[in-house]
Amino acid sequence: MLKLYNTLSKKLEVIEKKNHINLYTCGPTVYNYAHIGNLRSYIMADLLYRALKYEGYKPRWVMNITDIDDKTIKGAIAKFGSAATVENLREFTKFYLDEFLKDLGEVNVSKDEITFIRVTDVMAQIQQFIMDLIDKGYAYKADDGSTYFSIEKYQKDFGDYGVLVGEKFIEGKKVGARVAVDEYEKENLSDFALWKSHSLNDANIFWDHPVLGKGRPGWHIECSVINKIGFKGEPTDIHTGGVDLIFPHHTNEIAQSQALIGKGNFVHHWFHSEHLLVDGKKMAKSAGNFFVLKDLKHPFAAWSLRYAFLQSHYRSQQNFTKDSLDASGNRIAGLINYMKEPHNSEFVADTKSLDEDLNVPKAISGSNEAFVFSELLGAKLPDLEEIPEEIDRLIKLRLAARNEKDFKKSDELRKQIEALGYELMDTPDGQKVRKKM
Ligand SMILES: [Zn+2]
Repeated sequence: MLKLYNTLSKKLEVIEKKNHINLYTCGPTVYNYAHIGNLRSYIMADLLYRALKYEGYKPRWVMNITDIDDKTIKGAIAKFGSAATVENLREFTKFYLDEFLKDLGEVNVSKDEITFIRVTDVMAQIQQFIMDLIDKGYAYKADDGSTYFSIEKYQKDFGDYGVLVGEKFIEGKKVGARVAVDEYEKENLSDFALWKSHSLNDANIFWDHPVLGKGRPGWHIECSVINKIGFKGEPTDIHTGGVDLIFPHHTNEIAQSQALIGKGNFVHHWFHSEHLLVDGKKMAKSAGNFFVLKDLKHPFAAWSLRYAFLQSHYRSQQNFTKDSLDASGNRIAGLINYMKEPHNSEFVADTKSLDEDLNVPKAISGSNEAFVFSELLGAKLPDLEEIPEEIDRLIKLRLAARNEKDFKKSDELRKQIEALGYELMDTPDGQKVRKKM
């Protein structure tokens, strides 16, 4: 039996066994590459998925893909111009969706077992959901043409707005103002947009509806709708995401869904993973500590990242540094030989620790190293015969340098290749590399 911390009840709860478990994860906004903090939260969800499978729970995993919001519209306009259409938006976001799927594959998230649902594929269902909220009095169309969710009406009927943040969340807060943007601070508690009316900044990207008018959905409504579609109206057993989604995103998902299907019928269990810090700070492009997977110039980057992320608990902040990546890389290089040999005590899984709120670090510390590379934890070892892209790139640069008789540069490149753990030989057939053992 798996016990997990529930953000809603603020305590450990047993996940009950039944026919299957509905597992939902908030997916990426596909306007750029996913950063390594995003990847950590998907790896944590994947560890949960694998643990559920291992314990015989039969999870069904659904993830939304946010392909419509301010950022994706901006990206589509930058690429296709100020007359960009929905088609253009879908083409623009398809590229980053494919890159996201590649990244998930590289860090060994069980992506082939996830049902991905793009927001632009379920527009009619989103419009219908909003219409149902209007019919029940929980949504209203304002003077600006957009449709908003009424927190006041919800609070009057349910009295639990914001409990995911804390019991006293709403105390002393003024309700009734409106906010059109998707992301806002707790201090600015406001009715949020379910359907945003079309503006000049949106190019030709909009969907039309006889009551709602020309526009597009707000961010929060998509997840209420995709939970419903993905699990065919059944409640969601476990909903995962990063802690930064607790407010406003998950708080608003609960309000929208409970308004239609009743208290306690939306999500039973909330699973939130903590932030990843880089060099001790929150990741930010301006701070120079912002990384996506392909920025990590390390021959074992993806394998090392997964291995590094197994070292800390999902509810603890983790600090990522270049040194920690190198240490994981070295560990992996060292384990390659070990794994080639037969060992008797392979996969002595400490699953007891996993059952206690997915305590992976404890499970690893008490068991045979090989366990880390089991199906259960999903760390992988690289294929030794394969030459990593980065090494290949350096070899090509060195060839060019030698052709130009720039031997100083050629020597520097040799040092770089060796520093990454590869041996370089100049043979009559050209340069050859092999992994140092
Ligand atoms: Zn979501």
